Amino acid sequence: MKRRVILLGPPGSGKGTIAARLQADFGWKHISSGYHLRREAEAKTAVGERVKVFLENGELVPDELVLELMEGRLLPELDSQGFILDGFPRTRYQAEALDQWLNRLGKPLDAVLFINCPESVLLDRITGRRVCANCGTVYHMRSNPPSVSGRCDVCGGELTQREDDTEIVLRKRLDVYARETEPLVAYYRAQGKLVVVNTASDPEIVYRAAVKALNE
Ligand code: ADP
Repeated sequence: MKRRVILLGPPGSGKGTIAARLQADFGWKHISSGYHLRREAEAKTAVGERVKVFLENGELVPDELVLELMEGRLLPELDSQGFILDGFPRTRYQAEALDQWLNRLGKPLDAVLFINCPESVLLDRITGRRVCANCGTVYHMRSNPPSVSGRCDVCGGELTQREDDTEIVLRKRLDVYARETEPLVAYYRAQGKLVVVNTASDPEIVYRAAVKALNE
């Protein structure tokens, strides 16, 4: 099975959900750049103070900052069972830097899983999204609500809405995605690493298709 994997797809395509399940089922390390950046911002670290404004506005954090953060998160995982990168790389510059790190260490990517999702679906998904402030489990107000309103089923933590999950900021994130990140589909296709999974309303179907694609 492929086990050094990138998940690529627009905001709201379900990358985080798939990555969390791959981690649970196969013991791979789920590494989400957005999660780590938000944590830095919440903890008000030096990096956090610099990235906060980009996060709030739905703009990309400058490449150098992201690369420094992600290098520290990724390199210790290279000898583990496997990893799934979620939200990184997001620009051509980041993708080339990542290829360089991995190729130098003789551990190139096995696959890039592209979650293909029409824009009409994304808006509903993101604006209905709620995240546990404690453990990060993701819910949706309509399609995947918690059993007790406002509380996480896993740990009882409080469910919150991400600051950038409002419609205005989301539109910006979708524009940024189209301009900066979507071109990576062609970049990885040219490397012969791209596998495509189409999204569906049932997350289980998408997950099974993803596992099948990674097994081929
Ligand atoms: P989504 O995929 O739903 O937009 P993420 O959690 O992946 O959410 O990212 C949230 C925000 O974090 C982005 O809008 C951006 O500001 C920042 N970010 C995350 N990953 C990167 C990255 N690789 N490069 C630049 N900025 C990033």
